[in-house]
Amino acid sequence: MGEQKDASILVVVAHPDDETLGAGGTIRAHTEQSKPVDVLCMTGSDMRNKELQAAGEKLGVRYLYLSERDDFAIGNSLIHEVVGAILKSQPKILITHSTSDYNRNHSNCAQIVFEAVEWASHSTIFENAHRVERIYNMEINTLLSRPNVFVNVTKQYKIALSALREHKSQTGKSDDYYLKLYDARTRLRGVQSECERAEAFSITLPEHAGPFYPENHVTSLI
Ligand SMILES: [Zn+2]
Repeated sequence: MGEQKDASILVVVAHPDDETLGAGGTIRAHTEQSKPVDVLCMTGSDMRNKELQAAGEKLGVRYLYLSERDDFAIGNSLIHEVVGAILKSQPKILITHSTSDYNRNHSNCAQIVFEAVEWASHSTIFENAHRVERIYNMEINTLLSRPNVFVNVTKQYKIALSALREHKSQTGKSDDYYLKLYDARTRLRGVQSECERAEAFSITLPEHAGPFYPENHVTSLI
């Protein structure tokens, strides 16, 4: 087992800018501790991918899995692509959207990720099968009603905000709506977790059900 030293994170999002809006401070907090963070974005375009690369650099992202897929082309055929990224990055945990997000692309992305995590762990299918420990679901516009974890991003907020500004095609929209949203939401989560600013996540435990996994064979439950 790789254990802590090699523990990495894979962030899977629907659109360029979601990675920063939902988890920019958290990504930066981990890269500052030399924990590798990779990002897979399901959609994109030449312009938006350049913005994502600039934002990724500010956040210290190790590797970007880019796509030029249209916004509305997020479907189950993507499970395979996400499995590929999981097998390549071998992340300890995964960060993605929430299935309760009202944006259908976001909730579809979360569902696809959940399926991919199951497939990637099948040692009967993949020689390099990989078992992701848990999935952290982030929030964009839809606030999580039952967050499990608040990551203190007080120190990372400024750089995360500057990463968000790299998504120029988006942040200029509607009177700086996204910048205001990120400001207000991290402040709210900070109030709730007794710090200046925070990002909230709920946790989904993968099922990893089946008889084939050595990890599922135990002699004691406690
Ligand atoms: Zn989005």
